[in-house]
Amino acid sequence: MENKETSSNFIKTIMQEDLLSGKRDEIITRFPPEPNGYLHIGHAKSIALNFGLADEFKGKTNLRFDDTNPLKEDQEYVDAIKEDVKWLGFDWDGLHFASDYFEEMYERAIVLIKKGLAYVEDLSIDEIREYRGTLTEPGKESPSRSRSVEENLALFEQMKEGKFENGEKVLRAKIDMSSGNMNMRDPVLYRISHTTHHNTGDTWCIYPMYAFAHPLEDAIEGVTHSICTTEFEEQRPLYNWVVENTDMPVQPQQIEFGRLNLTNTVMSKRKLKQLVDENVVDGWDDPRLPTISGLRRRGFTPEAIREFIYETGVSKGNGAVDVQMLEHYIREDLKLKAPRTMSVIRPLKVVITNYPEGESEMLEAEINPENPEMGTRQIPFSREIYIEQEDFMEDPPKKYHRLYPGNEVRLKHAYFIKCEDFVKDEEGNVVELHCTYDPETKSGSGFTGRKVKGTIHWVDANDSKPAEFRLYDSLILDMEDEEELEGAEEKTFMDLVNPNSLEVLQGFVESNMNDVKAQDKFQFFRHGYFNVDPKHTTEEKPVFNRIVSLKSSFKFKK
Ligand code: ATP
Ligand code: MG
Repeated sequence: MENKETSSNFIKTIMQEDLLSGKRDEIITRFPPEPNGYLHIGHAKSIALNFGLADEFKGKTNLRFDDTNPLKEDQEYVDAIKEDVKWLGFDWDGLHFASDYFEEMYERAIVLIKKGLAYVEDLSIDEIREYRGTLTEPGKESPSRSRSVEENLALFEQMKEGKFENGEKVLRAKIDMSSGNMNMRDPVLYRISHTTHHNTGDTWCIYPMYAFAHPLEDAIEGVTHSICTTEFEEQRPLYNWVVENTDMPVQPQQIEFGRLNLTNTVMSKRKLKQLVDENVVDGWDDPRLPTISGLRRRGFTPEAIREFIYETGVSKGNGAVDVQMLEHYIREDLKLKAPRTMSVIRPLKVVITNYPEGESEMLEAEINPENPEMGTRQIPFSREIYIEQEDFMEDPPKKYHRLYPGNEVRLKHAYFIKCEDFVKDEEGNVVELHCTYDPETKSGSGFTGRKVKGTIHWVDANDSKPAEFRLYDSLILDMEDEEELEGAEEKTFMDLVNPNSLEVLQGFVESNMNDVKAQDKFQFFRHGYFNVDPKHTTEEKPVFNRIVSLKSSFKFKK
């Protein structure tokens, strides 16, 4: 595949210039997930950027867990994130936990206090908010702001020692209560939380706020370019203030790019977690979710995801990308790789009345006509087969070229069959067809006697494997702008969950698929690409997740 990761973008240009000018002698980046959920395809974009860019300059990339909020974080998420980054095809240099830096962060807070740049605040969180002012009005200085360095040092120490309750005190930066940037109005640096942390246990009861912790984490690791999404643009002055005033030897540069969003889905971990917790979906790896584990279980490959990410490019914009673009890349990736076989997902029995009873034969077919190296497969054929219900109509409209009384079609890889009769149940549903076949018309025999207009697929009824098929539709009904919706009073994204996003069907696959394994991928004739579900597949019955149908109406913008 063409390597789009090497194409130019504004972040790469900055890095190039920094190396040329001697501002930096190497490039160090990091991917810093908070372990409070599973990774989604938006994270994949950040991963591809951070690892891809450092790689191009022979630099380094760390995987760093931003685990400074003990309440929401969990080891399960740490493990899943590591697995997903590796699966996407990236290798980290250092593996770090922000919580390993708590001691150093505490020391750096003391540096600020000693410089008169931080103070312990007595006001409650609500009062702090009141004092903060608005975009049009400056904030008010808190009485605590004039505390002496000694008093601040003593109080901060007591905070650390657990002398105060949650919320009783915080540590704030002393910057500018009338700054035009609200983030600079004496932001909170440390809060008290008597909570056991998944890494540091009960060692700490004060925890650094993200805006203080993140720049320090970058600086401690010697990160040169700290790539993040545009919602942090307003935080950049504070980021720079922290690294400059804490005397960190390396001062990283924060660079923002636009988040990746996809149509017809939700992307934030908070919303994904809600869908999981309320059992709207089958876990974080539900094939309808845009999580990396969900995409993997659906059958997307790392190659397809990476190609898609590179195609979306790097910009400051946040527009939603059509999910069909991702689907385009999985079709491209599987076209030559996936074996092609037949499955019947809504079975209708067909008896071939002139085929000898008790007999059967093996038909040979290519595994992938576009990739002859994959060889051939054997398909059993006998007197009874299954076809799709939709391939028969009692009263067909014009231009219907499949089976109807008196019509002849080609069975893919087999013979012509002609519909002679059909059987209905008491409710009037067609439950069985009676057809005849013409032995002269065997596929590959060179028969040219007559032509038929329709070709349908089938599986042998006596020698086939029962299988379950799961067909998916968008999880979220058309949603122009998720954020806009969030602001709306009554509706939430939960109201837009598509009640028909999953259809489960019972049918059959060719018996040569007896030993399929989890994550094997196939192209089923006319139905699309499918992946063997790793969670629900049993020895008796494979479960196939439809990755994508065969055709797309999607057109790339030129
Ligand atoms: P979410 O809002 O989905 O929970 P987050 O930004 O809080 O995401 P983090 O774990 O903090 O998640 O993110 C790790 C990195 O991934 C950050 O650098 C963040 O900017 C980046 N990232 C998260 N979502 C996206 C996205 N949709 N597109 C690109 N980068 C993203
Ligand atoms: Mg976050």
